[in-house]
Amino acid sequence: MKKLIIEVRVNEYAMRDGNVHVPWTADELGHDAVAILEAGAAVIHFHARQDDGAPSFVSEDYVAAARAIRHRSDLIMSPTLGQINVGGSQERIKHIVELAQYPDLKPELVAIDTGSANIDRYDAVAKKFLSVNKVYENSHETLMLFCKEFSRLGVRPVISAWNGPFLRSGTALMEMGLIPEPAYALLVHCEGGLLGGHPATTNGLSAFLSHLPTDRRIEWTVCCKHGNLFPVAMQAILSGGHVSIGLGDYGYPELDQPTNAELVTEVVRLARLVGREVATPDEARTILGL
Ligand code: ZN
Repeated sequence: MKKLIIEVRVNEYAMRDGNVHVPWTADELGHDAVAILEAGAAVIHFHARQDDGAPSFVSEDYVAAARAIRHRSDLIMSPTLGQINVGGSQERIKHIVELAQYPDLKPELVAIDTGSANIDRYDAVAKKFLSVNKVYENSHETLMLFCKEFSRLGVRPVISAWNGPFLRSGTALMEMGLIPEPAYALLVHCEGGLLGGHPATTNGLSAFLSHLPTDRRIEWTVCCKHGNLFPVAMQAILSGGHVSIGLGDYGYPELDQPTNAELVTEVVRLARLVGREVATPDEARTILGL
């Protein structure tokens, strides 16, 4: 079976109440990059954060983070666009445009969420939503603009799909020639009261896989926002998919405050148990056609 690509979603917008090891600063991201590379990761997905953990939308913070990561590793870099509209489509990609000016810092992958979703959290115990009007918008006009800009910059868009219809829109972008093959698709499962994506269950992943086109080359990977990815990760490892795990999505109290590198070590162990070796960054570049 082909080698397993392990991507690490190191920080997202996670604070440290769930796990003290979430990296925020450029230096912490550089430190994590070394550790996850040594553990077996090939891709790092990161958000720039301020010293107190607040999100940063400043291009210089992305440059500093990318420098710290590239200085210490050859990981494939995948900076976020941010799950927030900060002032229009061009504004959302200005840090990607900035990073692409530096040959050694140019992101190889950038995930675009190929659809819109309600992102209020639901408290199932209290039977109420913690907010009631958070909508994450990604129009087809915006997605097409991102793809065209990334093509100009030489950056590969990743199809980030929260549900079947997101995947159908991503496939349409492939058919339009806006996303090259082999495409890399992140199948986003949602737990912890986030209702916009499939649950992290066997049925949740199977529903995604039933929407994968059979006539297109797509390498797919799985993540789980706000919940334990391992049930779905096992299924992905056995089914020829890849795994995107990290403290950004969930603190893993099951493993008692693990680091990102310790999560990677667990994934490597499970993969080897069923006969799958893990890809180095360069092997992942070959698999993804980068
Ligand atoms: Zn992210």
